Amino acid sequence: MDGFLTPECQDASTTIKPEESSCYRFPMDDAHWTGVISKLRSELVEIMGSGEIRAMAEHIRDAIFQLDAPMSRYCEITCPSCDDVCCHWNEVFYNRTDVIYMIAAGIEIPSGQTRTTPHQACRYLSQNGCKLPRACRPYVCVWFLCDAQMEIFREEPALFQRDFISLLQMIRQYRLSLESLYESHFPMGGLWPPHPESSESIRPRNSKRYSLLSGRSPCGPFRRR
Ligand code: SF4
Ligand code: SF4
Repeated sequence: MDGFLTPECQDASTTIKPEESSCYRFPMDDAHWTGVISKLRSELVEIMGSGEIRAMAEHIRDAIFQLDAPMSRYCEITCPSCDDVCCHWNEVFYNRTDVIYMIAAGIEIPSGQTRTTPHQACRYLSQNGCKLPRACRPYVCVWFLCDAQMEIFREEPALFQRDFISLLQMIRQYRLSLESLYESHFPMGGLWPPHPESSESIRPRNSKRYSLLSGRSPCGPFRRR
């Protein structure tokens, strides 16, 4: 769907990028995180006047709300007996699109990147699962289904499966549109803070997970209630 334009993007004639950038997907201390939020807020203020960015972000937020019930149901079934809890893995990070979306939708921004050093557990994981509402988790925590959950999904009625995948596709297109619009105004906007020179230590340790949109995923699912 390269070149797809969401309705809100059509006037801007923005070409939509095919993949989200990896900006900010690395361990980050809270001072840098606060700097990122502040920088993006001030940049977005300059380009949010027409309302198109807020409208796209609200579409994303509303679609995630619709995903919440089935995702929660899957987690209730699979997570209590899981022996390899995905939230312990160390490859989950907010990316730039996550932050743009949360600012534009008026969502309260979580207090920091998921971890400040490579081998920490996610700071939002508690005894009862994720402390964050689904709408403000890193999007990788929303859209992956692990193997156990894929088995359940495959048994769902066809209409449910179609609707579910349509929601994921819609979210994906709005997120790509959001970041494309941002980049069209701020083409150098991802240069600070710089990505650590060596990313070896934060590579996924398990890539055997499914993405409903693109087959095998390059990184894992990270959801847990
Ligand atoms: S979502 Fe994560 S914690 Fe839950 S069953 Fe799947 S891998 Fe385990
Ligand atoms: S779902 Fe898991 S990995 Fe994602 S933010 Fe919550 S605790 Fe962290």
